[in-house]
Amino acid sequence: MESHGTPLIDSFGRLHDNLRVSVTDRCNIRCYYCMPERDVEFVPRAEILTFEEIERFVRIAATLGVAKLRLTGGEPLVRRDLDRLVRSLAAIEGIRDIALTTNGVLLADQAEALRRAGLRRLNVHLDTLERDKFLRITRRDELGRVLEGLEAARRAGFDSIKINAVAVKGLTESDAVPLARFGRQHGFQIRYIEFMPLDAQGLWDRSRVLLMEDILRLLGEEFGPLEPVPDPDPRAPALEYRFPDGQGTVGFIASVSRPFCLNCNRIRLTADGHLRYCLFALEETDVKSLLRGGAGDEEIRETIRRTVAAKWLGHEIQRAGFVPPPRPMYAIGG
Ligand code: SAM
Ligand code: SF4
Repeated sequence: MESHGTPLIDSFGRLHDNLRVSVTDRCNIRCYYCMPERDVEFVPRAEILTFEEIERFVRIAATLGVAKLRLTGGEPLVRRDLDRLVRSLAAIEGIRDIALTTNGVLLADQAEALRRAGLRRLNVHLDTLERDKFLRITRRDELGRVLEGLEAARRAGFDSIKINAVAVKGLTESDAVPLARFGRQHGFQIRYIEFMPLDAQGLWDRSRVLLMEDILRLLGEEFGPLEPVPDPDPRAPALEYRFPDGQGTVGFIASVSRPFCLNCNRIRLTADGHLRYCLFALEETDVKSLLRGGAGDEEIRETIRRTVAAKWLGHEIQRAGFVPPPRPMYAIGG
């Protein structure tokens, strides 16, 4: 493959081979810890990268060693013909893995086409199996369609399907066990994600985070103590635990109680073409202007290298003076 010098290693020695691409900031539901209920300000359509622009960027990043992609948003499935993008990205030399994070509402219709286009892995966002609570959290009555989407995805034969469940204290405690049971029954790994300070309304507070240890306790009371699974890939963000009867595992994205920054291997491209070295970064680089302004591949490559070189050691959610990023989750790409 065409390769361009040293791989993307930052000043702390971390290798970056993982790119998360947000394909839209729009969404068809309104999770309260991500979006405001109404009057959401979306980026004008003309400012969103085209499939061709995304493809070119990924092609250039691949020459620097980027091998793993995750498509996200906003809700990526509201972007028309997403399978066409997946197919073109899967054909890029050096890209070994493509995954998607979705809320699942539109998945039933698209799962098969996405799988055929080369998508290997799915994360479907689902916090509760109770219809009323789903409505309260997302402000939309779409639980039924998400469950249909999961079933369609299972039939389509993805390599892995995981469920992302945001863990909020005082809200989702009673969902932890039913979700775990549901995951064990259908072969989906549940990933509990500690509530992060990325909501559009500034609702986050340390006291509202349902911590990994709290969930482990709840699961332990129901299933018996879970055992940590030794991690074959230390750069994977999730900490995994096995049920004592050996039937399945759960994962935790414990960004608040156990940040994984020391092993971070990711960079992120926002839907409007800005490159970020961290979900929580306070700065970002405008790549869209380069893509649209006639910049050559080497200039874009150099911008990617510079972004990685500027990467900080990690976010400081734990610190009292923590400053959240200027964009909420849906506008960055979770
Ligand atoms: N719309 C898709 C979805 O919901 O999966 C993809 C984008 S969404 C921003 C990506 C993931 O971010 C979601 O799966 C959800 O679990 C997570 N998320 C959103 N807001 C969050 C928050 N404030 N704290 C922790 N996780 C959050
Ligand atoms: Fe939409 Fe995903 Fe944000 Fe929920 S978390 S509002 S599904 S982008």
